Amino acid sequence: MADIIQLLPDHVANQIAAGEVVQRPSSVVKELLENAIDADATVIKLIIKDAGKTLVQVIDNGKGMSATDARLSFERHATSKIKTADDLFDLHTKGFRGEALASIAAIAHVELKTKQAEEEIGSSIVIEGSNIVSQEVVVTPKGTSLSVKNLFYNIPARRNFLKSNTVELRHVIDEFHRVALAHPNISFALYNNGSETFNLPVSNYRQRIVNIFGNKTNEKLVPVNEETEVLEISGFVGKPEFAKKTRGEQYFFVNNRFIKSAYLNHAVSSAFDGLLKNGTHASYFLYLTVNPQTIDINIHPTKTEIKFDDEHTLYALLRSAVKHSLGQFNIAPVLDFDHDPNLDTPYNYNRSTNNEPKIEVDRSFNPFQEDKSSNRKPISYKKEVTASWDSLYVGLESKGTKTQHDFSEVHFESENNTESLFEDSKLDTNATTYQLHNKYIVSAIKSGMLVIDQHRAHQRVLYEDFLENLTVKGASSQQLLFPLQLHFSTQELEILTELKEDLEHTGFIFSNVTKEFVEITGVPVSIPESEVSIILEQLISDVENEVPDSNFSITDLLAKSLAKSLAIKTGQPLKKSEQEHLVNSLFACKEPNTSPTNRTTFVTMSVDELDKKFI
Ligand code: ADP
Ligand code: MG
Repeated sequence: MADIIQLLPDHVANQIAAGEVVQRPSSVVKELLENAIDADATVIKLIIKDAGKTLVQVIDNGKGMSATDARLSFERHATSKIKTADDLFDLHTKGFRGEALASIAAIAHVELKTKQAEEEIGSSIVIEGSNIVSQEVVVTPKGTSLSVKNLFYNIPARRNFLKSNTVELRHVIDEFHRVALAHPNISFALYNNGSETFNLPVSNYRQRIVNIFGNKTNEKLVPVNEETEVLEISGFVGKPEFAKKTRGEQYFFVNNRFIKSAYLNHAVSSAFDGLLKNGTHASYFLYLTVNPQTIDINIHPTKTEIKFDDEHTLYALLRSAVKHSLGQFNIAPVLDFDHDPNLDTPYNYNRSTNNEPKIEVDRSFNPFQEDKSSNRKPISYKKEVTASWDSLYVGLESKGTKTQHDFSEVHFESENNTESLFEDSKLDTNATTYQLHNKYIVSAIKSGMLVIDQHRAHQRVLYEDFLENLTVKGASSQQLLFPLQLHFSTQELEILTELKEDLEHTGFIFSNVTKEFVEITGVPVSIPESEVSIILEQLISDVENEVPDSNFSITDLLAKSLAKSLAIKTGQPLKKSEQEHLVNSLFACKEPNTSPTNRTTFVTMSVDELDKKFI
């Protein structure tokens, strides 16, 4: 039989390599920014259109390339950065694989203009799908400009896989941040669809962080410094009271390269033990310097993970350095002077445990508000409320009967509930609820036993409430006595600005949106003022992480996000009456079986099943 193995043509090999190197526009951003840094640029501009799908361009003032190098730079395994395998273990550059430009040129329209300082004229090369379209001499400033247009133009499947512009832009900005945070000695700017989103002058680390995340960040940072023989640590951790619900602002850099490390992350979080509220994450910006020979960057094609020779020592050093800083700056749970009530999570918040005598100023006090206690427990079981436990089952049993609404603005039709499991379930009137491990609510039903997950169940209840409020009833707003000013980072504000209109439909009133903060004068009636900041933060993070599909609706997302933020948590003890309310409200829902994110809300076990276990 004839031989059948053949070498793949270069452009096919390049496309395959591109699959590893280029996942999305932000991968192009990373490669181009890193090339500019490796070329010793001091000023780097990033220009993108349509979240990078149409254009990613990086202009630098670095050392440029000769005409020959310009042509060679698009060959696979063409690099000026390493010469021998040994160099791999002593890397001082970002790149070293020589794959990026070849890969990118295989799947986009690429234009390169470059000139070395000592040359009069530069070179321009146009490549499309690995084919050189033109190579000319041009007049161009010192440095390099590389434009990548129409990413994946020749691989429709990959192009279709790209997410919405909001999501892709988020990835691009993340990448930009990672690179910019690692190199405050370089000036960076980002232009998105023609407008300047970031302009970061040369500065120090602290100033760079502040320039990116907003002036408010400055007061949140606690410096961390530690110098040992194996490791130098510098940077900052965020004060515990500013910890966020999302993991957004957590950065490790090793030798000025952004890396991800669950292990080191654990070291930092454990240094925060006892200082953080449940479910929150401290911010950190930590710069580690180690001998390049003690790390292996080579284990991951996109190089965000690295291997350390001695992880255990790093772990211990990092943990103690962070602990030390927190201690030095007197950050301990009792010293909670600039406590911000906006950041309280009502369900974890228990004033009774606070025995320190201290003066409390209730900034949210509003003499015109009727019920002060609602501030503490702002989450009401809106589906008011079947008077007693057994009425639930009566309601379920005779399908025509409506759940009783007192003055509820929300109408839920229990006759829609075709939950067959419960059709014949009739509670014996003595049945009661029981809370198990502050997590499940257990009760007897006619056929056996019912176990409800309290967190998921409450999410379902709130979700349907919100949806109804948002879609059917439209927005009703609750005017705030004093406008609420909330600070966000630039990229969070970008997302908020995009959501502004939808949020206004839900009852938010924005009086001012600047580059640093938003001012809010009205919020949806169902949202307590003290929760607004957390809710918006959660919403932003949900939008960022959303995989938009055809059903993507901002109202739905908002309802889900609000429900998630406001639902009672696992671990929250519930009074009998609260347990009963929750059960009642759940079975008044249209789809009681699942949480808004499609997780099971309750299970049942029949007496038969139980009997079998006792054989
Ligand atoms: P790598 O960065 O791994 O070497 P790339 O494909 O990213 O591989 O780049 C190939 C080569 O092109 C680099 O080694 C470098 O010599 C040259 N190069 C790429 N971008 C620039 C730039 N902005 N300025 C100067 N030289 C560059
Ligand atoms: Mg490179």
